[in-house]
Amino acid sequence: MSINAEQLSSSNNLLEVQDLKKYFPITAGFFRRTVGHVKAVDGVSFTMKAGETLGIVGESGCGKSTTGRMVVNLTTPTSGKIIFDGKDISTHSGRSLRESRRKIQMVFQDPYASLNPQMSIGEAVAEPLIVNHMLSKKQAFDRAAQLLETVGLRARDLSRHPHEFSGGQRQRVGIARALALNPKLIVADEAVSALDVSIQSQILNLLADLRGRFNLSYLFISHNLAVVRHISDRVGVMYLGHMVEIGPKISLYNHPLHPYTQALLSAAPEPRRVKRRERTVLQGDVPSPANPPKGCPFHTRCPMVMDVCREQEPKMRELLPGHFAACHLH
Ligand code: SF4
Repeated sequence: MSINAEQLSSSNNLLEVQDLKKYFPITAGFFRRTVGHVKAVDGVSFTMKAGETLGIVGESGCGKSTTGRMVVNLTTPTSGKIIFDGKDISTHSGRSLRESRRKIQMVFQDPYASLNPQMSIGEAVAEPLIVNHMLSKKQAFDRAAQLLETVGLRARDLSRHPHEFSGGQRQRVGIARALALNPKLIVADEAVSALDVSIQSQILNLLADLRGRFNLSYLFISHNLAVVRHISDRVGVMYLGHMVEIGPKISLYNHPLHPYTQALLSAAPEPRRVKRRERTVLQGDVPSPANPPKGCPFHTRCPMVMDVCREQEPKMRELLPGHFAACHLH
């Protein structure tokens, strides 16, 4: 179900993910023999341009977080390529990998868990600069003070600890830490999901502001369609380890082409919607990624399933300008 080579070949892409797979082995018995695989990500492809925000949306377990973790090298892909800034970082190692990886940083869902409670927030933000030998300790703390102000905190709070801050403030610290190494790409995995709704919009606005100021790109991963819509230029929809639809935000939200996207959007609360979509209630559970169905991964729940869907996996095709979907209906 991968996007073909021509669609990925544009030279001004900041990130190209090609046919990325992550299979986790299932082991059993005394000798921990591999008896199967959980196909968490199964052939995902997409591109991102510099300065762009790509939202990845899907239900829990669809593989979106695993995809993000592979892009930042927290999880090793089973196969596929990740080309960042023209270099294949899925095959690099050593210094070259470290240099590329510096330019990709992550903002996590739970800022409290991602910050060391023993460290002051100044130490947390300065640490990447010191560990990477980019600045002296004094310079790194000066830079940390600047970064705290950049994200809306006070430089004089440098010596305070994470527990002294609210959830929203801690997420600002997490963002300052991610900015420390001057990244080009930030992977934000459910970055506002743990926050109150009023705080969510402040953090989203901060991210949007930082994007303009630092020419950042975001891979913004969330289960929340409204949040993804707010911040993204393009949106990809994942289901059972596959990208099933991807396109410009307005096109995807106004003209969803894949029955799964249509069902997700029909279930999303949208008080300001002019005309309500007819609600599609999906039947059954998401199949196990350890035993995915043959053919279209969505066929066990699709209200429009046809015979061909049970046998042949649909290919991703461009159906509207820049808007791709993998479905035999089209
Ligand atoms: Fe539904 Fe068939 Fe399209 Fe899959 S390919 S989404 S089962 S219509």
